[in-house]
Amino acid sequence: MQGSLPNISIIIPLYNEEENIEPLINELSSALRDICTPKKQSYEVILINDGSSDNTSEKLQTLCPNEDSWKTINFSKNRGQTQAIMAGIDHSCGEIIVPMDGDLQNDPNDIKILLDAIDEGYEVASGWRKNRKDVFWTKVLPSRIANWLISWISGVKLKDYGCTLKAYKKSVLGGFRLYGEMHRFVPIYADWQGARIKEVEVNHRPRINGKSNYGLRRIFKVLLDLLVVKFLTQYDGKPIYMFGIAGFSFFTISFFAGVWAVYLKFFDNTPFISTPLPLLFTLGFITGVICILMGLLAEVLIRIYYESLNKKQYIIDDEHKKKGAL
Ligand code: UDP
Ligand code: MG
Repeated sequence: MQGSLPNISIIIPLYNEEENIEPLINELSSALRDICTPKKQSYEVILINDGSSDNTSEKLQTLCPNEDSWKTINFSKNRGQTQAIMAGIDHSCGEIIVPMDGDLQNDPNDIKILLDAIDEGYEVASGWRKNRKDVFWTKVLPSRIANWLISWISGVKLKDYGCTLKAYKKSVLGGFRLYGEMHRFVPIYADWQGARIKEVEVNHRPRINGKSNYGLRRIFKVLLDLLVVKFLTQYDGKPIYMFGIAGFSFFTISFFAGVWAVYLKFFDNTPFISTPLPLLFTLGFITGVICILMGLLAEVLIRIYYESLNKKQYIIDDEHKKKGAL
């Protein structure tokens, strides 16, 4: 297996997980041996220390197996779980990416069922923590509400977006960069690009060592990130359409408010000043103009973005050329 590129890249973000490193490495090594040896698959494990303030870095140095297939990355500063996963993806060589938490809440033995789903032909296998072992009021309930909202906004029907344990073909990312809390939206992005997704029930275990890094605030960040993903994927080539529709809606409100105010003035003898309609007319008009101008600005930015990176807005699946054609 050495020398050739690995098939599977396991990516694990770690922030202040000093007590979990040893059991994690032991469990993962034995699970990967059981999963990959029979199928003759090769793997790499990338452990990303996200600027921990405890001994995570030292523990990684002493405990990480001295093999080509195990890599560590150290951030100088804490950048968050998504950036740690993104760094792992950037440094990975496998065709299949498997991110998982490093606090042992995900079970490394579940990697097998996710990979089986990929073998069945799915591009994404997403873990579903059916029996989640977290505090109900601060984690499980808010996450159920968030999952419902995300499904509703995205149109993708998954039960658990927040489970880090997933497997996906690296190609589904197609250059998509992860920011904020976006690692959980890979299945949504993949679905919008036409990928096939399977949700697979996985084991979830209580956190024994260390403490959770997140509270309720994350829900709001996740929902805001979803709006960004939705905007970037649905309107990235034509932002003026979105801003333009909003702009014309405000012009319509402004128009009807104006007409109504004039009607009241001349047919009902109601002075302009005694109704809020002139205010609505002015506000609607100004907001409409601002929306259109923002749309034009966004169009300029999109062009700079695509042309500076020499990026295309279309994706070609495959190409056929007829004999003799130019
Ligand atoms: N993590 C990270 N950077 C952070 C916060 C968390 O790399 O800033 C890692 C953490 O070490 C763990 C995973 O992300 O491996 C999930 O974090 P946590 O257990 O705190 O989240 P929860 O399970 O409570 O949602
Ligand atoms: Mg956890």
